[in-house]
Amino acid sequence: MAAGIEAEAFRQKLLAWYDAGRRDLPWRQSTDFYPVWISEVMLQQTRVEAAIPHYLRFLLRFPSLAALAMADEADVLAAWSGLGYYRRARNLHKAARQVAEAGIPRSHGEILALPGAGPYTAAAVASIALGLPHAAVDGNVIRVTSRLSADSEPSESPETRRRLAALADSLLDRARPGDFNQAMMELGATVCTPAGPQCVWCPVSGFCGGYAAGIQASLPVRHARPQSRRRELCLLLLRRKGDGGGDEVFLVRRDSGESRLAGFWEPLPYDAAWGAAPVAANFTHQIVNDRYSVSVREKWHGADSEPTVAGRWFPVADLPLVPLGGIARKAIDAVLAVRPTSLFDTGE
Ligand code: SF4
Repeated sequence: MAAGIEAEAFRQKLLAWYDAGRRDLPWRQSTDFYPVWISEVMLQQTRVEAAIPHYLRFLLRFPSLAALAMADEADVLAAWSGLGYYRRARNLHKAARQVAEAGIPRSHGEILALPGAGPYTAAAVASIALGLPHAAVDGNVIRVTSRLSADSEPSESPETRRRLAALADSLLDRARPGDFNQAMMELGATVCTPAGPQCVWCPVSGFCGGYAAGIQASLPVRHARPQSRRRELCLLLLRRKGDGGGDEVFLVRRDSGESRLAGFWEPLPYDAAWGAAPVAANFTHQIVNDRYSVSVREKWHGADSEPTVAGRWFPVADLPLVPLGGIARKAIDAVLAVRPTSLFDTGE
């Protein structure tokens, strides 16, 4: 019995539900290490729906671990563009090189030792790709286990996390750990959702302490979040006609000393020295706790001179292959793309 839950009956109910109606996600077509690992790294900070097109494009670009290991970092960052949290891509690339040399990891500990692999990723990959019995505890699983056990302590506290992870581990189906972990996450993503748990459709409602007590919607308990900081950003998209007649845009490269987006390209910061340039687009963009209000100005540059700042002209057609952060992509898309088409949606 785990927290009063009859574990074997719980597993049977949950896995029967998962087997009957699991979502058809592209990374579920294989349990090979490489696609499972790519998907789990992408899903660390990206929603399933948003990750799908990126996952498909990334695997088209780098269809094997060897292809990823041999790629240039700039190409990997370009393929990651739009997913954010670019440290994930750099670590993925480093890890691919390690694995290409040392071989596919054979244990949870070996996966955990790869660059960028935390306890969640290691447990998810170990269970799905290697069939090893490790409970993967992400935000979905924290929510589900806190509701199952009616745990009303703040879920951010290490003590609560340990308790909920121990519950997930005690419920884990040792014979089908990968399916069990995915079923728990699926339950959290589709039924036991943050705002409105749909308990009448829930396959494990008979085991749920939160539901029995009528407090499920208030769980997990969280500390109040800090308010987003508001930031203003004004960019300049400099354009010109290239030699071949196609449009080009001028971008500057982030200094390699700046860690988060080092090596990425972006439009110029706008200031009055650039003279009149009409606002072509406005949008907002959230990065962790910062909420950016971005305005993008546009200016055509003559073919007979070069800007006085260090940067490079890129043909618009090449932009999907250039490493761009989220704000840069949105800015370029907002000015150049004809809605609803995105420059960066290659339709693959
Ligand atoms: S009964 Fe409701 S609160 Fe409990 S696990 Fe199911 S959906 Fe979540």
